[in-house]
Amino acid sequence: MAAKNFNYVILGGGVSAGYAAREFAKQGLKPGELAVISKEAVAPYERPALSKAYLFPESPARLPGFHVCVGSGGERLLPEWYKEKGIELILSTEIVKVDLAGKTLVSGTGESFKYQTLVIATGSTVIRLTDFGVKGAEAKNIFYLREIDDADKLNEAIKSKKNGKAVIVGGGYIGLELGAALRINNLDVKMVYPEPWCMPRLFTSGIAAFYEGHYANKGIKIIKGTVAVGFTANSDGEVKEVHLKDGTVLEADIVVVGVGGRPLTTLFKGQVEEEKGGIKTDAFFKTSVPDVYAVGDVATFPLKLYNEIRRVEHVDHARKSAEQAVKAIKASEEGKTIEEYDYLPFFYSRSFDLSWQFYGDNVGETVLFGDNNPTSPKPKFGTYWIKDGKVVGAFLEGGSPEENQAIAKVAKVQPPVASLDQLAQEGLSFASKI
Ligand SMILES: Cc1cc2nc3c(=O)[nH]c(=O)nc-3n(C[C@H](O)[C@H](O)[C@H](O)COP(=O)(O)OP(=O)(O)OC[C@H]3O[C@@H](n4cnc5c(N)ncnc54)[C@H](O)[C@@H]3O)c2cc1C
Repeated sequence: MAAKNFNYVILGGGVSAGYAAREFAKQGLKPGELAVISKEAVAPYERPALSKAYLFPESPARLPGFHVCVGSGGERLLPEWYKEKGIELILSTEIVKVDLAGKTLVSGTGESFKYQTLVIATGSTVIRLTDFGVKGAEAKNIFYLREIDDADKLNEAIKSKKNGKAVIVGGGYIGLELGAALRINNLDVKMVYPEPWCMPRLFTSGIAAFYEGHYANKGIKIIKGTVAVGFTANSDGEVKEVHLKDGTVLEADIVVVGVGGRPLTTLFKGQVEEEKGGIKTDAFFKTSVPDVYAVGDVATFPLKLYNEIRRVEHVDHARKSAEQAVKAIKASEEGKTIEEYDYLPFFYSRSFDLSWQFYGDNVGETVLFGDNNPTSPKPKFGTYWIKDGKVVGAFLEGGSPEENQAIAKVAKVQPPVASLDQLAQEGLSFASKI
């Protein structure tokens, strides 16, 4: 089979692929110059919707409603858009072999693709309990959530196990968002995680106490300090029980596992420099291999603000890194340069009627402010992180767009603080006056 030739190939069809395609089109593209190759069957979409409105029992989000770039208030890129722009959208095609030196990609069905410039946008995959040999973890109705196919399977199970029992394994983003989604679908939900509180990588105990309280008020039972060590199934092979390390046995019709992800870099092993689990890039997302860029979850890049190299697995960075890489590719073709990537980390989540945002770095001492009583009708609270006498990170639950902008500015400007007590008293008004 003759190889298909492209000037640019984006490998992956997720968030960063979609934003990269839009940026290529903005910068000027000739028909047939760009291909997007994705193992998913649909055009790039805003992945965060999968754990939120996609699972709603009433008026759920469905494609084409959430194709990129609606998540950032931009134009919705339907499959027709790619056609109009002369971009080849090659779907349901998994690349299984990569030769970076030979500038060739090979698909599972043996098709070859050649490129001049490659943008790696393969994102992450979930960590599975079967990876650790957890007994019975291959039973039916044990779900993971990464791609739209996973969400469709979960939705089917939610329908067929009406008013059933669900166990969520893991207390991170996916665990918290899925716990809420299943509860909204009227399942009896229990959550299990080993840490002393949920989202320990970001939340302080004070922040977590609010969400755990709120979830308890919604009827979700949280079991902490233990892990799932095995599952039993019924005669149809469907999960029936979750066995915990502390000896507890939980009945379950549905299990959702959210125990983390890992960047999809295996295809490139030994061919490109890696660091901190990702593909190492410069401030333009250029890798150690000429004409190869890496963006989104897979990139380990210089985070200028903290003078450190990091990987960031969040949608805002996926969008912005993609745009930066394409601008850099186009500029270098014209012998020009662009500004270095200067990123302010931004994470967010939504569940039930709650919504939080975080900006900056969660290091140093912390100060909790506001009303974090989970029984309040309209709770609004936040936390500042203070390092070397300066505010370096800020979290806010229930903020208005202006208030969220204010905490973003604080994290960027890093104002000095004289007294933590005073900061706690001032709370949000400290951010509002920066
Ligand atoms: C359910 C869920 C909810 C999330 N919610 C939030 C949130 O609320 N806030 C937030 O900040 N972040 C959230 N995230 C994280 C965010 O979605 C990711 O950081 C972002 O999608 C990363 O973009 P990406 O383009 O690097 O990877 P992805 O969007 O994962 O795209 C990778 C693409 O590459 C394809 N691919 C991989 N390997 C191959 C191959 N070999 N051949 C062909 N195609 C391949 C995949 O099929 C996929 O289409 C969430 C993630 C998930 C899974």
